[in-house]
Amino acid sequence: MSDKTSKSKEEWLQQLTPEQYHVAREKGTERAFTGAYWNNKKDGVYTCIGCGATLFSSNTKFDSGTGWPSFTDPMPGDNVETEEDTSFGMRRIEVHCKKCGTHLGHVFPDGPTGQRYCINSCSLNFNEKKELGTGDQE
Ligand code: FE
Repeated sequence: MSDKTSKSKEEWLQQLTPEQYHVAREKGTERAFTGAYWNNKKDGVYTCIGCGATLFSSNTKFDSGTGWPSFTDPMPGDNVETEEDTSFGMRRIEVHCKKCGTHLGHVFPDGPTGQRYCINSCSLNFNEKKELGTGDQE
């Protein structure tokens, strides 16, 4: 958890683009339909832009029509944490990386099977699966 505060703004800006920094570290939101992954249909794993933790799988990604990458569930592994967010006069559930505190997006209860994790591409990296069904995890 110490990683949540151990990096300075300067250190984060060496690692992230200004837009990524704004979304990931200042709880910003990228404009809809502008991110790298809202329309990505490849098989693979989405990891945290801040620390590389595995967050979401293409297996739970769906086309929400919102212009942001949308998932029904986080990946097993407990790297995704939520907290209540009452900013902007709304009552929402904020989603962040448990390991480094990177802001990911929000989760809403209106997904096709329950939850809709509405996530910024800016907060993610995508690792395309090279082979399916092989135990090639690290
Ligand atoms: Fe992280």
